[in-house]
Amino acid sequence: MQSISIVPFVDLAPLHQPIQAQIEQAIHAVLQRGDYVMGQAVKEFEQSFAKICGVSHGVGVACGTDAIALGLQACGIGHGDEVLLPANTFVATLIGVLRCGATPVLVDCDPKTALIDLVAAERAITPRTRAIVPVHLYGQMVSPCLLRDLAHTYELIIFEDAAQAHLAEREGIRAGSIGIAAAFSFYPSKNLGALGDGGMVVTKDEATATKLRSLRNYGAPRKYFHTEFGTNSRLDSIQAAILNVKLPHLHSWNRDRAQIAEQYNALLKPLHSRGLVPIHNQSGKGHVYHLYVMRVLKSEPGLLDRETLQQRLEAQGIQTGIHYPLPCHLQPAFKNLGYREGAFPVSESLCEEILSLPMYPGLTEAQVIQVVGAIEESLAAPVVVEVPV
Ligand SMILES: *Cc1c(COP(=O)(O)O)cnc(C)c1O
Repeated sequence: MQSISIVPFVDLAPLHQPIQAQIEQAIHAVLQRGDYVMGQAVKEFEQSFAKICGVSHGVGVACGTDAIALGLQACGIGHGDEVLLPANTFVATLIGVLRCGATPVLVDCDPKTALIDLVAAERAITPRTRAIVPVHLYGQMVSPCLLRDLAHTYELIIFEDAAQAHLAEREGIRAGSIGIAAAFSFYPSKNLGALGDGGMVVTKDEATATKLRSLRNYGAPRKYFHTEFGTNSRLDSIQAAILNVKLPHLHSWNRDRAQIAEQYNALLKPLHSRGLVPIHNQSGKGHVYHLYVMRVLKSEPGLLDRETLQQRLEAQGIQTGIHYPLPCHLQPAFKNLGYREGAFPVSESLCEEILSLPMYPGLTEAQVIQVVGAIEESLAAPVVVEVPV
């Protein structure tokens, strides 16, 4: 029997191998200095990451979820405030909004881009709406122009969830610089990832940065002097040191991702008529492809359903993912928000149709061809219709 070569969904080895010695050196330097918490590497990384986002302040925190929760809190959002966010996002966006004390107001998404539908967002605005949390899902930004128009008209704060969009651009604006502040995650598989958890809030506003520095450090602007109810949420020096080594490579890693996406786009084009449709890129070269996602349209007669396609790909060694299989409002944990099935039809049908293909810097063109070849083979095999006995 011929052994199949596996195409993993994500593989960080090709990314880390060439810089392993530098990473080890950076960890060693922290060990030598002994400044494990809030050390020199954290300050350096905060400054360089904020700069690359085009804003003046960066505040490292423990993870992206904390960046959303504490970031919103630092912007003055809390109890009694309504915050708009998409139903179609990773659940951490919702957790962050809830943790700052605000009332989340979910909004459906655009069927082509899977991004928050800003027309629906406008309809959801009430006199208590204070902020919008656009999620730059899969690496594509929500339109900065449209966001700013909406925020201006209704006096809303824009707080970006940029956890999937490091260095993404749209309309000449970089992710993290649309509104007052933005949250990033450095979870290992993000476009810029630590070797553990990490997060950051970047902001143009000095007062927000100052408040956040206190909130992440027990609410103490100076040691043992607590002015507010803060917490302990800091970016480790070792993780920051690793991120300092990785940051200079981010542009080229993102270019790799975009190139892989172009290869997928070209190879998948003939399959559009068979009901396989990639999520639309409306932002050209600014899309940083954290994920490459396509829809397996349910409405196509005779087409494989998403689960069968995924199983057949797995059998051929192709690992895929679903981001995400259940929208936030239907998660058992958030039943108490009171949303029902059917509340956000676009998000709900997306969740049933989307499939994420392998995507990471270092994925070769031959592997991309192998993935699409396996998709074609899966489509060619007969669809087994289960007949009830
Ligand atoms: C990863 C992610 C987060 C949360 O980041 P963590 O570092 O895992 O807490 C938030 N929002 C989105 C869209 C994400 O993809």
